[in-house]
Amino acid sequence: MRESPVITKIEAIHYSHTLEEVSRDYNTFNMVYKPGGKSKQSGTLVRIHTDQGLTGEYPDVTGPTLAEIKMLSSYLIGKNALTRELIYNDLKRGSRHWAMLGMGIVDICLWDIAGKFYGEPLFRLLGGDLQPLKAYASTLHGDENGGLSTAGDFEDFAHKCLQMGYQAFKVHGWGLARDNINREIENVLNLGNKFEGKLDLLIDPACEIKNFGDALKLGKACDEANFFWWEDPFQDNGVSQFAHRKLRQLVKTPLLQTEHIRLLEQHVDFIVADATDYVRAGAHEDGGITGAMKIAHASEGFGLDVELHGPGPVHRHIMSSIRNTNFYELGLVHPNLPTTKAPVYLDYSDDLDAIDQEGNVYAPQGPGIGVNLDWDWINFHKTGEEIIAE
Ligand SMILES: [Mg+2]
Repeated sequence: MRESPVITKIEAIHYSHTLEEVSRDYNTFNMVYKPGGKSKQSGTLVRIHTDQGLTGEYPDVTGPTLAEIKMLSSYLIGKNALTRELIYNDLKRGSRHWAMLGMGIVDICLWDIAGKFYGEPLFRLLGGDLQPLKAYASTLHGDENGGLSTAGDFEDFAHKCLQMGYQAFKVHGWGLARDNINREIENVLNLGNKFEGKLDLLIDPACEIKNFGDALKLGKACDEANFFWWEDPFQDNGVSQFAHRKLRQLVKTPLLQTEHIRLLEQHVDFIVADATDYVRAGAHEDGGITGAMKIAHASEGFGLDVELHGPGPVHRHIMSSIRNTNFYELGLVHPNLPTTKAPVYLDYSDDLDAIDQEGNVYAPQGPGIGVNLDWDWINFHKTGEEIIAE
């Protein structure tokens, strides 16, 4: 048996860049299209080094997550980098008073090390295979600036996506839907009218609708328009098991919850409470690849499908390795924007044109996460670096 790699150092490389033609909407929390707008984005590349020269790396880590990684780092020094189950459970306990975000990035880096150690892409380590992953165009939030500002704008964009090969389309509606649910309903009914049978239609109000009553009105519209799922409708933040069980009793359209709860145990509790139809999980929020796979297999045991939150090479590996799933979330996309992300990768994209003609994407095939970082771009945009622990 080969010697296991041992963690020796954790390093952070900070960078920032400016996204063009975007701004923030009414309450600053949603990115939206805005002609002439500029938005400064900051991110960090986390690197976990080992005594064998293998490094696990993950980009676009943001402030709260990085703060947790800093709190967890001293534990990691000297640990066997392949003992992901032990580390998952120890970090879960160590993070129990926090948002549980840092442990997910640590786990992803450990899987990257494992892939490089064995010389295989992650989907092979997970028992999967290279296969087409059906993507949905996940739109940027509706805006008030002439981009996705009307039901007609969403219709035109859905038409463009259909022509490109997409088989599914998800609306992130207007922030101010909380003051005018009829605008959201008009959009749903129009999309159902125009695209039923051509696109699987999804909607995610992202917890913006102000109360249960308006959420119910939107759910009835989803029934009429035959939507595939609706997601996180209202401002309980998507966490009330009781409210979502009630919504499921009153609305026929399948509900997708559990994006805003954390890790295996809370997901299983939500399922057992009859509070969701599809199960949301994400490597970034649910304890990494280890945690997301636990949720995927727990859902499989209940006969339910798990839908991964957001794009990225890690989610392509997971989706290539599980049976009980439907779509890859490709986003956030907008008809007037070439990208909404930092271009940290070489030869890899989750932008609108990343699909093939059938609307599919594929997992990367290099060892570990399997995508090369664009070091020229990272070094040019670097604002600082630090050794977190060694
Ligand atoms: Mg969502």
